[in-house]
Amino acid sequence: MITPSRIPIIVLTGFLGSGKTTLLNRLLTDGIKTAVIINEFGSTPVDQDLLKDQSIPMTVLSGGCLCCQIKGTLAPTLKNLWMAWNGAAEKPFARLIIEASGVASPEPLLDTLLREPWIAKRYALQQTIATLAIPSACTQLDRHAEARAQVAWADALLLTHADWAEDSQIAELSTHLKTLAPTTPTMVATLDSFDAAGLLSVGPLPLRRLPSEASSPEHNFRSLSLYLDHAPNLPHLQSVLQALLARYPDELLRIKGIVYSPEPTEAWAIHAAAGRLYPPVNLPIRADQDRCGRLIFIARSGLEQLAKELSISLRPSLGQNAIRLN
Ligand SMILES: [Zn+2]
Repeated sequence: MITPSRIPIIVLTGFLGSGKTTLLNRLLTDGIKTAVIINEFGSTPVDQDLLKDQSIPMTVLSGGCLCCQIKGTLAPTLKNLWMAWNGAAEKPFARLIIEASGVASPEPLLDTLLREPWIAKRYALQQTIATLAIPSACTQLDRHAEARAQVAWADALLLTHADWAEDSQIAELSTHLKTLAPTTPTMVATLDSFDAAGLLSVGPLPLRRLPSEASSPEHNFRSLSLYLDHAPNLPHLQSVLQALLARYPDELLRIKGIVYSPEPTEAWAIHAAAGRLYPPVNLPIRADQDRCGRLIFIARSGLEQLAKELSISLRPSLGQNAIRLN
């Protein structure tokens, strides 16, 4: 195989809970050796544990988003990765996928990739893909400039959660996208069907200017990390989370994390977005896991109150300093 002179990069963007990590897992099955950079808004990273393939070169940039708080970490990470790649006789990877946080505007990230001369000489931006969860995308696009910027900068859109979407939601989103991204190729993914080759065949569009409101990101999101030293009762945890989602429908945007059951062989991925708690997903147990569960809550406001309620309703599972606000 001829080694390319520049490493191709795919950027995954999309609002909180829209299916970026699921897409990443699906893209990683195509046999191309891939390095991954995962950016998480919360200070306690979770997405890395949700990747099925744990053997790939992976860098986690957490505690803020790549478009602002931790923007400066991207260039050094890319430099280190390239040094490792360039110095190896057998190349450890043939492409890089960057998963941006759900609240990141892509523009500053793309700016680093395309305009920093050292990086632009060694990496080639292949594609920016934005995921949109059909049932919640219209509300998110109406409310959050970040969601609109993600669509505006994408070369391809992947509509997710089609299995849970109603026809009217699909029609409403199509109308939205006709205005926001009339020429961007759009595909639909369901649990059973996903055309990775078709998605990846979409090349980069010529760069477009963003609406001025999104050019300097100013997020109104905060995160809360919750550590579960003792395994919670899963049905109880689900009902606590369900109640919080119902009580804070506008404030609480995302819950994700990993919890362990008292049985030593069980770990579960927990996800909620747009007011909906998904059924827990059983995860393979890995030897290096510390069996301390952790949940991340991302909200627009009200995190102090949320912290109080969590400390009461999940008290038996919490150790010292179990709740951290960021
Ligand atoms: Zn940001």
